[in-house]
Amino acid sequence: MDHLTPNDMSAVVEADRAHIWHHLMPHKSLETTDPRIIVEGKGMRVWDQHGKEHLDAVSGGVWTVNVGYGRESIANAVRDQLVKMNFFAQTLGSIPGSRFAERLIAKMPGMSRVFYANSGSEANEKAFKMIRQISHRQHGGRKWKILYRERDYHGTTIANLSAGGQDERNAQYGPFTPGFVRVPHCLEYRASDQGWGDLSGEDYGRRAADAIEEVILAEGPDTVGALCLEPITAGGGVIVPPPGYWERVAEIVKKYDLLLHIDEVVCGVGRTGEWFGYQHYGIQPDFVTMAKGVASGYAAISCMVTTEAVFEMFKDKPDDHLGYFRDVSTFGGCTAGPAAALENMAIIEREDLLANCAAMGERLVGNLEALSEKHAVIGQVRGKGLFAGAELVSDRAAKTPADEAKVKAVVADCMQQGVVIGASNRSLPGFNNTLLFSPALIATADDIDAITASVDAALGRVFG
Ligand code: PLP
Repeated sequence: MDHLTPNDMSAVVEADRAHIWHHLMPHKSLETTDPRIIVEGKGMRVWDQHGKEHLDAVSGGVWTVNVGYGRESIANAVRDQLVKMNFFAQTLGSIPGSRFAERLIAKMPGMSRVFYANSGSEANEKAFKMIRQISHRQHGGRKWKILYRERDYHGTTIANLSAGGQDERNAQYGPFTPGFVRVPHCLEYRASDQGWGDLSGEDYGRRAADAIEEVILAEGPDTVGALCLEPITAGGGVIVPPPGYWERVAEIVKKYDLLLHIDEVVCGVGRTGEWFGYQHYGIQPDFVTMAKGVASGYAAISCMVTTEAVFEMFKDKPDDHLGYFRDVSTFGGCTAGPAAALENMAIIEREDLLANCAAMGERLVGNLEALSEKHAVIGQVRGKGLFAGAELVSDRAAKTPADEAKVKAVVADCMQQGVVIGASNRSLPGFNNTLLFSPALIATADDIDAITASVDAALGRVFG
């Protein structure tokens, strides 16, 4: 534990209460309870200001600390780099920037160029801007619309919310940016709400993708430039696309000459047991954005990765002074990000964490499925790698979403037991009912069993 005296710690808590605007939080609860301060982390565990230990099943709350806490080799790599050369605008180059780009591209056949930025939202904005600029340069500005999917999330800026498929996150922030058009979700469990009849498996997968084509036809195919999708929807409830979906998406992308932008901000760099989520499905994107797992939270870094074909479209041409990508991200030039990312990737390789992620992910989903035999409130378990969700329903046959207050009570009960899990709250009215799990890729069988044991106890107490 940090060596603060109790008085020092009280001062920290009071400063937090007085001055911190916590993310995603209605602050009323902090009038009656102290803010929780996380003081220290090691491996899969963190300690709060009272010295209480928590097993972290959500990698820092938002799917980020993929290689676990307290990694001295990353801290040392960042320190050494910062002392040598901390920053110069990315208009020039840096040693870790070049090296990480080379290592990253080696994991992404077909991709070629890396644009550095700081957050997932920012990386997505870069891709949106490139897509728009390509529309201007190649199609006289006509193919300007970008399709996004119901339940997906791409970030916090107004443009990203314009492409946001989670209505509660968007409420009261409009008006939005024009040119973003929604396509239906692909959650088979909720197929009966979509009016396509009683379809399942590949039939459902192809139908959900056909719905994208219907939107394209309704909008006018020559107005649609790109399709932006999460490979596996994260905060919208861990939606693993059904068989047949991605194959049909690939056909549609080709048929209508769309650019395919895959948002790997959550799935990227190992979360699903492959380096990237899209690599489970054999698709070839034009843009891939990533952030959280790139440096596991040891530095702020995001990447927008694209192909050489896209890069070629932006090469200088005489008498075309607007022809290049006129974009900058100040801290895209901070070397802490790629220095941390290089060591983060080296750890994943050295410790064979992709294999561990796949194996422990199966255990996690298996354990949750076993719990669903015991707790009727678990309607469906979904997941890939160490990325799983358990959708809670108050009536299995009717699939009525469980009461949000009770879902939150399960999360709070686990926290009380010293296990941090998440829930898909504040994203979709009525459907904030999926428990979320994303332990670090270093999780052991004992960790996984401890996580699901706490959920077992919490479900028993909250739902009886
Ligand atoms: N894309 C996805 C799929 C996300 O889940 C998030 C954040 O949770 C973002 C983009 C935005 O990333 P950031 O919060 O780093 O801007």
